[in-house]
Amino acid sequence: MSLIERAIVASRKTAEHHDPSLANKPAPKIAILTCMDPRLNQLLEWLDIKPAEADVIRNVGTAATEDVVRSLMFSIHVLGVKEVMLVGHTGCGMEMFSEEEFENHLHKQCGVWAVTPAKFHFYSDVNRATQKQVLKLRSHPWIPSKVVVRGFVFDLSTGELREVTSKD
Ligand SMILES: [Zn+2]
Repeated sequence: MSLIERAIVASRKTAEHHDPSLANKPAPKIAILTCMDPRLNQLLEWLDIKPAEADVIRNVGTAATEDVVRSLMFSIHVLGVKEVMLVGHTGCGMEMFSEEEFENHLHKQCGVWAVTPAKFHFYSDVNRATQKQVLKLRSHPWIPSKVVVRGFVFDLSTGELREVTSKD
């Protein structure tokens, strides 16, 4: 059975015990931008943040892209989020290629060159990459300066969360 088929069956069972208050308006206190890497799926638990407290935005490489800003506009200006936490991590796939190498890889896989996405956000230093994403958000004109934006790197081998940006 495929995982999707299994999920459909499971959801029928869990719906029987569903809490209808989940349909109430969300009230997140923090937005967390992190990587889509499955090894980070328990991040909220490790940070002792309850699921209801966080808008979690994920993409490969924790990149503060235009679409991440789009999501943050909703967190900040509709739901009242005052803190944004970026969590990059060690051993990310974004360290595996350069932009050019990955385009070549895709060309080999698909047989064509494509023009979009224009950038994949590869990097060689996760600390620097995370600092850069924080600066991108802090300098965005739609993100008020009173909103705290801080950057961290999660070390997958030690479980340590290391801050890589100054607090302001
Ligand atoms: Zn990653």
